[in-house]
Amino acid sequence: MTINGVDGDPKPHFVLVPFLAQGHIIPMTDFGILLASRGATVSLITTPVNAARIRTTIDRAAAASLPIRFVELRFPCAEVGLPEGVENIDVLTTQKQTEYGKNFFQASFLLQRPLEHYIEQQSPRPSCIIADLTQPWTRHVARNLRLPRLTFVGLSTFTLLSDHNIWRFNVLDDVKDDKEPFEIPGLVQRILVTKAEAPGFFAGWDELAEEIRQAEFEADGIVANTFEAMEAVYIAGYAEAMQKQVWSVGPFLLGCTPAISDKAARGNRAVVDVPQCLSWLDSKEDISVVYASFGTQTHMKLAQLMEIGSGLEAAGHPFVLVIKDGERSRDVEEWAVALEEKVGPSKALLIRGWAPQAMLMSHPAVGAFITHCGWNSTLESITAGVPMITWPHNGDQFLNERLTVEVLEIGVSLGVKVPMSWDDLHEQGPVVPRDAIEEAVRSLLDEGHEEGKKMRVRVRKLREKAKEAMAEGGSSYLNMTHLIEQFAQNDKEREELNGD
Ligand code: UDP
Repeated sequence: MTINGVDGDPKPHFVLVPFLAQGHIIPMTDFGILLASRGATVSLITTPVNAARIRTTIDRAAAASLPIRFVELRFPCAEVGLPEGVENIDVLTTQKQTEYGKNFFQASFLLQRPLEHYIEQQSPRPSCIIADLTQPWTRHVARNLRLPRLTFVGLSTFTLLSDHNIWRFNVLDDVKDDKEPFEIPGLVQRILVTKAEAPGFFAGWDELAEEIRQAEFEADGIVANTFEAMEAVYIAGYAEAMQKQVWSVGPFLLGCTPAISDKAARGNRAVVDVPQCLSWLDSKEDISVVYASFGTQTHMKLAQLMEIGSGLEAAGHPFVLVIKDGERSRDVEEWAVALEEKVGPSKALLIRGWAPQAMLMSHPAVGAFITHCGWNSTLESITAGVPMITWPHNGDQFLNERLTVEVLEIGVSLGVKVPMSWDDLHEQGPVVPRDAIEEAVRSLLDEGHEEGKKMRVRVRKLREKAKEAMAEGGSSYLNMTHLIEQFAQNDKEREELNGD
């Protein structure tokens, strides 16, 4: 028996398994809501702590009678020696990430049996598992229950293909010096990186990296938060390299209806008064404010924050600076208060804790974004039509920076070449001086800066293309239609085979 959607056509049931970090949960939640808005049934796997963070979204989806269920599985902290309540990687401070990072993945792997149990209880049985790239254990679930499984990548396909080609052509074997640039093979454009910048995902965690690669190869297809007009050649290249279909169905942010996915409550409850923030931005001219925020996992020390603050102040444009909970201390607070007093509240808005980033970024006053180049932040900048100032830290971020600065030409680099691991972040002094920040901000926001203007024109064109992709009949919209239809068809064939 299949489930019929509101239009009477049979609809599939997707089980979505995000990795439990904000940068993964946010796009997976958006994706789930989009699938459910198109009539598919969705079970989104989460845990009590993570569900509490997105309660507004869950409640709104329920009020709109969307066929999406947020399934709260207990996260097995005690079994792997994690402190109780550590259900999201961002709960761990810098030091503790080093100490407990592997335990966190072990706990995720232990979700296998509870997930199998949940799926076994569903009638009719689900059509497909769509699991985050970093949840390779889901391949065992899929195999045991004989379900198809797609990999969900919250990454750019440029970055995925680059990482894949570096691995596939064994490029790193011949690299003697971590800082020696080499060309990424198999790309249409000449792009240079170093081993330090692109050591391979999960370098140093060999067993996990291998599991992830195996799971990627075994998957029945790939779902990506990107769109054809921006990455066509890389989407095709990655599909060919993996010999799999890649459904590019993003950027999700543009497809979600505000009534359900409130931008202000995206991923977490904001610590600021949202109308107040908006009226602060309303009081500024269009394209005059610089927004600085570095995702959910980088942690700046006071000395680096001071350089950022001084650089922003010297650039002379109003700014929003986000200071994460994990960065806060008495010293940081004293410095923040002093900065606010010196610059004045009309020019400096410091947010301590979770900022409603997607909402603030889309305000017309925001004209530049200093970012760590996380893929979600990058997409938020593109969909807001805002050029970037790039400061990658680790993971996929250096490759994302290449895409932003060299391929799309919609950002200026702060010139950081050395990655910061969790350990270094804790120990290291400032790596970006105030002058570099000032110069980059000026290059995008000062009157008469031609390069900044050109970047703005390019990124705004991309924004329009992104809107077209997500609108009815657009490439991402149609790819999602095909995804849903294909699994509805699979269900039908399976039923016929089983004589249901
Ligand atoms: N984010 C937010 N408020 C904050 C910090 C982060 O809304 O104060 C959101 C941001 O908009 C993005 C996500 O968290 O959607 C971070 O994902 P990204 O891929 O940019 O970086 P990560 O944290 O995964 O490195």
